Amino acid sequence: MNLASFPRVRLTQAPTPLEFLGNLTRLLDGPNIYIKRDDNTGLALGGNKTRKLEFLIGDALAQGATHILTQGATQSNHVRQTIAAANKYGFKTTVLLEERVSGAPADYYANGNVLLDQILGAVIETRPAGLDMHGELIAAGERLRAAGETPYLIPGGGSNPIGALGYVVSAQEIVAHANEHGLHIDHVVHATGSTGTQAGLLVGLQGSNSHIPVLGISVRAAKEKQEHNVRQLAARTWDLLGIRGSFPEDSVVVNSDYVGEGYGVPTDGMIEAVHLLARHEGILLDPVYTGKGFAGLVDLVRNRHFRKGQNIVFLHTGGATGLFAYRSLLAPRAAL
Ligand SMILES: *Cc1c(COP(=O)(O)O)cnc(C)c1O
Repeated sequence: MNLASFPRVRLTQAPTPLEFLGNLTRLLDGPNIYIKRDDNTGLALGGNKTRKLEFLIGDALAQGATHILTQGATQSNHVRQTIAAANKYGFKTTVLLEERVSGAPADYYANGNVLLDQILGAVIETRPAGLDMHGELIAAGERLRAAGETPYLIPGGGSNPIGALGYVVSAQEIVAHANEHGLHIDHVVHATGSTGTQAGLLVGLQGSNSHIPVLGISVRAAKEKQEHNVRQLAARTWDLLGIRGSFPEDSVVVNSDYVGEGYGVPTDGMIEAVHLLARHEGILLDPVYTGKGFAGLVDLVRNRHFRKGQNIVFLHTGGATGLFAYRSLLAPRAAL
């Protein structure tokens, strides 16, 4: 696996720490729970998209692009990190925000990541829910090309084979940490959305013959659809890296029991998870991704899906900036 042959910029403070959650492990009385702090990647309040952007921005520079375009939901963490990375390398940036969550409080449309997008200073366009957002992205790129720019399109979540390389790197960090500390990891658990994180992790782990199982907790799509999408991207990433053989498709496992009513719509489990980790470990999760992902882990521990003595690594993919968009939901309980 030759990652060094791909253009790359350095944006991540890596390796990110892998910490033991002693209080939570005792409280839940189940497996040993560890956390990998990819919320602390370092770029404009961090998160998992920073790793993908190392390869995406590297590719944009190699192609001589002048203008970065991407899209996401209103409170997209990916959009925030993309603008920050593009700023650092002198690109102009246009972002399309899909109003995917409707009827949310005012903070949702103006605070959290939206405020940070405005401070970072991209051209921000909004779109109503339900459009083909990738089509909108391509159309916006064509308009810029006609105006003499050289656009570089980054798909939602930075999830294409180039972006997924960032999570091959994260997988390598996990394996190196386990080897160095003699830690036998039984499972990696994380929130899965646009699929680049899970695809990259699996390619990194399977491609290096470290067969640590990965469980993606879906925040949007149903299990079958999400597994299909992860498999497709993982296979393409595997081929991009030129790894021998074919990607082992049966390694893709998604649980979609913790989505609730939909993407970005709060659940009781998410609220409990945010409070649990904040109050027992001093770590901030987010309402859209890691709150639901961790709620899934807590429920699976309570239901004895994971056993005492096992070592589980929760990959914290960031997003706490989204808490400010959910202020009215979280503040009354936080005062208890
Ligand atoms: C984007 C995101 C995810 C999901 O990662 P994908 O690669 O899109 O599956 C998880 N957590 C946070 C905080 C994110 O912003």
